[in-house]
Amino acid sequence: MRPSPSHLFPIVLAGPSGGGKTTVRRALLEHHSDLVFSVSATTRQPRPGEIDGKDYQFLGRGEFEALIEGGDLLEWAEVHGELYGTPRANLQRAWDEGAHLLLDIDVQGTRQLRAIQPDALTVFLLPPDYDRLVDRLRGRGSEDAGTFRRRMRTALSELSEVERFDYAVVNDDLEDTLRAVEAIVSAERHRVKRLNPDVRELVRDLSESLNGMLGASQTQEARRE
Ligand code: 5GP
Repeated sequence: MRPSPSHLFPIVLAGPSGGGKTTVRRALLEHHSDLVFSVSATTRQPRPGEIDGKDYQFLGRGEFEALIEGGDLLEWAEVHGELYGTPRANLQRAWDEGAHLLLDIDVQGTRQLRAIQPDALTVFLLPPDYDRLVDRLRGRGSEDAGTFRRRMRTALSELSEVERFDYAVVNDDLEDTLRAVEAIVSAERHRVKRLNPDVRELVRDLSESLNGMLGASQTQEARRE
């Protein structure tokens, strides 16, 4: 897989299920047309309101395994007993649109993605306190005590990965979180190593014009002497 064009680095939102990734991701997508959501493939059942092809590509286990075998996934992981993965084609599609791919994936997937796309920007979203983490872990309602414990164990192991991320944002207030993530993305876009080709061209044009002017004034000076 070739690396991303330097100015279209993939953006990963990760962190424990209770961190509010889905809400933050949806709000970001609503406001930024240069972000494209990475629709993952999964073997889990759709939740009420989820749309196949929009929220996830819902697949049977056999279909998912065929994607793995075909090398069609950029990364994949088992989360809470279900398989989740990012179709390789998502990245190319975003680049073709001149957009950043926005991924909402777990920490295992983030690790794999970093290995293939080292310039990916990784942001870890944290819940503001224990009560809200637990509320959000429980929030999905239908789960039994065993499922809830499993979610807590997953959250614990996710937290142990925070140091590997580029940024961590405590998601207390949605507006503040959005502002923070937007500021991070904006700052990263202005990194010299990630400059948009237009900016590089601007530097070239400015230098050429200056060189031209300097050359012309040197000739004039030489004539006067
Ligand atoms: P949920 O079932 O609640 O939508 O997602 C469970 C977890 O799987 C979340 O942490 C979510 O970020 C993660 N996840 C969703 N899609 C992918 C994917 O394509 N790859 C990986 N590694 N994790 C994913």
